[in-house]
Amino acid sequence: MPTKPAASETGDPLLLTPGPLTTSRTVKQAMVHDWGSRDATFLEINRAVLDRIVEIAGGVGTHVTVPMQGSGTFAVEAMLTSFVPRGGKVLLLANGAYGQRAMKICAIAGRAHQILETPEDTPPSLSKLDETLAADPSITHVFAVHCETTSGILNPIRQIAGVVAAHGRRLLVDSMSAFGALDIDAVAVPYDALAASSNKCLEGVPGVGFVVCRLDALKAAKGNATTLVLDLHDQWQAFERTGQWRFTPPIHVIVSLHQAIEEHRAEGGVKGRGARYAANCKVLIDGMAQLGFKPLLPPELQAPIIVTFHMPTHPAFGFQAFYDGLKDRGYVIYPGKLTVADSFRIGCIGRISPEQMKGALAAVTEVLAEMGVTLKEAA
Ligand SMILES: *Cc1c(COP(=O)(O)O)cnc(C)c1O
Repeated sequence: MPTKPAASETGDPLLLTPGPLTTSRTVKQAMVHDWGSRDATFLEINRAVLDRIVEIAGGVGTHVTVPMQGSGTFAVEAMLTSFVPRGGKVLLLANGAYGQRAMKICAIAGRAHQILETPEDTPPSLSKLDETLAADPSITHVFAVHCETTSGILNPIRQIAGVVAAHGRRLLVDSMSAFGALDIDAVAVPYDALAASSNKCLEGVPGVGFVVCRLDALKAAKGNATTLVLDLHDQWQAFERTGQWRFTPPIHVIVSLHQAIEEHRAEGGVKGRGARYAANCKVLIDGMAQLGFKPLLPPELQAPIIVTFHMPTHPAFGFQAFYDGLKDRGYVIYPGKLTVADSFRIGCIGRISPEQMKGALAAVTEVLAEMGVTLKEAA
C-alpha cells in the first residue's frame, strides 16, 4: 500500500527543489490583505525587511539592502550592471549554470569579462584566481557563486574573498541559495555586493530579489547602470529620499517576506536554519545511500542545500516514473542539468523537517519497489 501522500501545512505536495520552496502557512496567510504602496503601514514593513536583511548579513552600519522586483536573476543582473562600470572588467568564477548565466548577463550588457571555469563537481582554483588577478590589472571585479545550486557544491567563498581583497579588487557574490542558512558574514567575507532572493533559505514566496551593498561601493556606483529598472543606485536613492519604491512594489511578497524573516529569527537565525537544513541533508544522504544511490559530491564539498545523485543505471529505472511515483506520494523532486553526469536533485531547503525527509525516503523505497529496481549490491 502506498504511503499516505505527504503534505505541507496546507496540504500541498512538499517541494524538494531548489526554489521556489514549500513555505509555512503563516507566510502565505500574511498575503490575504491589500496595502497601498505609498501607505505608511506598508512602508514601515518594507523598511523593517530591508533592515533585517542587513542584520542577517552582518552589515549593520556599513551595508544597505536594495531590493529588486522579480526573481533572483533580476537581482544578479542588477548587481553586475550597477556595480561594474562600463570601463570595468569582471572575472567570473563558474562551475555551473549560475556562473554561466552571469557571463551571459555581462555579454548582453557589454561588460568586459573573462571566465575561470572548473567542472561542476570542482570548486574554483584559488591559485588560478590569484595568478589571473596578478596577470591582469584591468580586472576590477570578481564574481563568485556561494552555493552553486546546479550541483549543490559549496564554493570556498571566504578564501575567494581573501584572494580578491589581497589584490585590491572587488567581490560580487551570488549567494542566492545559501543566504539565510549558511554563514556569509559581511565582515569576515568582504564584498561590494551580495545577491539573494525571497524564495530560497529565507522561505518567503517568490517575487523579489535583493542586493546587500557595501554603502561606499553603492555610492560610487552612481551612473554605472545601463538600464533604468535595474539601477540599484537609483533604487536606493528613492528609498533614501522618500522611503518608497520607484515602481510598483511586489507588496504581498514583501509583507510575507517580513513574516518569513520573523520565523527565521524565531528558528535561531542563520545558525538555526542552517542546522535544520543540515539535519535534512544528513537524513537524505544517509537514507539514499542505504538504498544504493550515489551522491555526486564528496561530503566536504556538499552544501546542505540541495543534493545531486547519479541517475541509476538499472535497466528498470526510469526517471519520469520515479518522479511521478514520488509526486503521487506528495514529494516533488528536480531533474539534474549537469554536463559531468546524468543526475537528479533533491533539495533540503524550505519549510521541511527531518521527519518529513524520512517520509520522502519511505516514498523513494516504495517507488523503487514498484519499478522493480534494486540498487544495493548484495553484500
Ligand atoms: C535560484 C538561483 C538564482 C536565481 O534564480 P531565479 O530563477 O532567477 O530566481 C541565482 N543563482 C543561484 C545560485 C540560485 O540558486
